[in-house]
Order: sequence, then structure tokens, then C-alpha cells
Amino acid sequence: MIGVAVLGATGSIGLSTLDVLARHPDKYRVVSLTANRDVAGMARLCRQHRPDLVAMADAASAEALRRELAGDLQGIEVMQGEAGLAAAAVHPDAPYVMAAIVGAAGLLPTLAAVREGKRILLANKESLVVAGQLFMDAVRRHDAEVLPIDSEHNAIFQSMPADFGRGLDRVGVRRILLTASGGPFRNRSLAELQHVTPEEACAHPNWDMGRKISVDSATMMNKGLEVIEARWLFDATPDRIQVVVHPQSVIHSMVEYVDGSVLAQLGNPDMRTPIAHALAWPERIESGVAGLDLFAIAQLDFEAPDFDRFPCLRLAYQAVEQGGAAPAILNAANEVAVAAFLDGRLPFVRIPQLIDKVLQAMPGTLADDLDTLLALDAEARRLAEQSLGNGV
Ligand code: NAD
Ligand code: MG
Repeated sequence: MIGVAVLGATGSIGLSTLDVLARHPDKYRVVSLTANRDVAGMARLCRQHRPDLVAMADAASAEALRRELAGDLQGIEVMQGEAGLAAAAVHPDAPYVMAAIVGAAGLLPTLAAVREGKRILLANKESLVVAGQLFMDAVRRHDAEVLPIDSEHNAIFQSMPADFGRGLDRVGVRRILLTASGGPFRNRSLAELQHVTPEEACAHPNWDMGRKISVDSATMMNKGLEVIEARWLFDATPDRIQVVVHPQSVIHSMVEYVDGSVLAQLGNPDMRTPIAHALAWPERIESGVAGLDLFAIAQLDFEAPDFDRFPCLRLAYQAVEQGGAAPAILNAANEVAVAAFLDGRLPFVRIPQLIDKVLQAMPGTLADDLDTLLALDAEARRLAEQSLGNGV
């Protein structure tokens, strides 16, 4: 039996993970769970999965959960705050950790698990965007294992030779072809994008996801964050990462080799496939996902990305080229912009403008330690909020 910690258990990836785990009670045991403030959701998960430890992001939610669990579930320890999230991440009985908190809030608990040398099932792409170099250095130093959950990166991992860590040139890889659905606004003109609503932005054509990543998919910042994620996971310079718009989301990404071969991973768009892959790797287990019906799909289309309608993608390429703290600043400004859009405080097309403004205000910022990165993340959020207050 392998113990598993699920960080961000009440979210879209967290619930898909628990669904896969519940299919294999002989193989896996849920040891610890975390959530932000969803007390009712966490109480339900406690009844179902009987973890040893759960952590809520704040004291009030933890107290409410303790009251909720008083009675038959008193044996479950409830912790709170940063220390609680970290305790859930480093639980000694959980060698596997699903990192599925959304945003930069996932960085510290995920890093804590890395430093314990765990197998990290990495959904929280923002960790790598904020602190890629530091994160990957810690993975090597502590002999941790990172298995990508993001469907594209999981597909790339499956299409790479096993020894890709030797360097892409040595193993004959020419390019990574990172597929993108294009999101719900793939066919909208710039003029039509002026008035889109949060509800439209969150109605993704192929994937059912949390609200933040849904908006990121609509702006294509999600693909930008994924370029940065791929840069670190596969040690690939950005010029070797080609975004390919593929509206059917059947090919989850590809790897092109120097001999002209292109290897791809295909499947239905359901996150339980990459989750099951990373849990069982190098073996395979059932995920609950139906087989691919190629006759029903019939056709696969490909398009070049449009940087004019989706400037967030360009901003992300620029940030990763610039290096240093630029990706962390990009990410922080994006988190503020997306939250403001979801609250009706910022029009959709202003999201890239706000991010660009913050990036311009913090040029050439170097950072090689965690404290500096976190301070710059906070400064970028402050500048973004200030711009919002001034009407961008
Ligand atoms: P979600 O919003 O559905 O869930 C987020 C989880 O994180 C919830 O459990 C929430 O309680 C918790 N959380 C939120 N803010 C927190 C905070 N400040 N402190 C502690 N916990 C907090 O998000 P999701 O769609 O499941 O995405 C999770 C991560 O996985 C994101 O980084 C996303 O980019 C990545 N991802 C998601 C999908 C998908 O299909 N949903 C696909 C690929 C990658
Ligand atoms: Mg993805």
C-alpha cells in the first residue's frame, strides 16, 4: 500500500485524483488532504477517504471543520495555515504527493514535499513558473521524482526517451510540440473579445477545470505558463517549444526527433489519464477513462497560434526569454488580473495590458533565492492591485 497526500483535494484535479485512488484501494491509501476554505467539501472527503491528517488554509475554516468532524471522525487530525499545508505535504506515511493547489500558493507546500524526496505528481504548474530553477535544483538535490500531471507535459514525458535527463540534443530530440485547444474564444475576433463574460470564459469546449485555469485557457496564458513549465521539466530552451493549436484536444502533445519522427500521446480529454499514469509509473493502471473512439473523432486539425488576439502567450515567451524573476512577476500579475476579471473588475482584453504594465514596472529583476522571489511576487501583486485601483 502506498500512502498519498492530496494537496488541493477539493478542486478539479484533487477530486479526479481521489476518483482514481478509490478505484485501487488495494494499492493506495489516502493519508492527508488539504483545501483552502471549502469546509463542507472537505468534510465529505473525510467521510469518504478517512485520511489521517487534513489541513485548511485558514484558522476559521479549520475550526469549522473540527466541529463538523466531531463525532465519528474525531480521529482525523485537523491542522491550519502554512504549517498545516506543509505538514500534510511532508506526512511521513505519504511517499506520493499530488500537488494540485492552484496558483503560487502551491509553491511552498510542494517545495516542502520535494525537500523530503517524495514522488511529486505535479499539477500546480505555477510552482515551476515562479521558481523553476530553484525547484528543479531542489528536485535533484533531494532526489525527488517529478511526474507531470498537466496533460501536455504528461504526454511529452510519455513521448520522450527514458533518459531525456541527459539533454535533448544527446537523445536526438529536436522540438517539443505543445498542443493547445485554443480555448473557448479560439474563433473570436479582437472586437468580439471586448465584451466576453466570466461565464463564457469558464465554459471550456473540451476540459472541465477550476475557474482560474479556465480563464488562463481563454486568454491562452495557460499555454504561456505551460511553455515555461516545459522549459524546466525538460530543460528545453523556449525556441525548441512550438505551440500548436489543436482544437479537438485528442493529441495531448508531441516530441519531434532529429530523424523526422514525431511521437505523440493521444486520449480522451480527461485528467484521470495523466493522474493514473503518474501514480502507477512505470506501470499502468485503470483510470476510469473510456477508450478513444477514433471513428467518432474522424478528424484532427492544427493551426498556428495567434499572438495578436492572445497577447498573453507572447508575454509568457518574453518572460521566459528574459529569465530571472520575470516569469514570477508575470504569474503574480496574471493571478491578480484573473481574479479581477472573475469579480467583474477588469475587462477580458485588459488582462494582458495589466500584466504587461506590471512587467514593465519591474524590469530586469534578478532573483536566485526563494525569499527574493516571494518578495517580488508580493510586489508584483501590489503593483497590479494599484493599477486596478487607477483603472489600469
Ligand atoms: P481548482 O480551483 O478546482 O482547485 C484548487 C484547489 O486548491 C482547491 O482544493 C482549493 O481549495 C485549493 N486552494 C486554492 N487556493 C488555495 C490557497 N490559497 N491555499 C491553499 N489551498 C488553496 O483548481 P484545478 O483546476 O484543480 O487546478 C489545480 C492546479 O492544477 C492548477 O495549478 C492548474 O493550473 C493545474 N491543472 C489543472 C487542470 C485541470 O484540468 N483542472 C489541468 C492541468 C493543470
Ligand atoms: Mg494543460
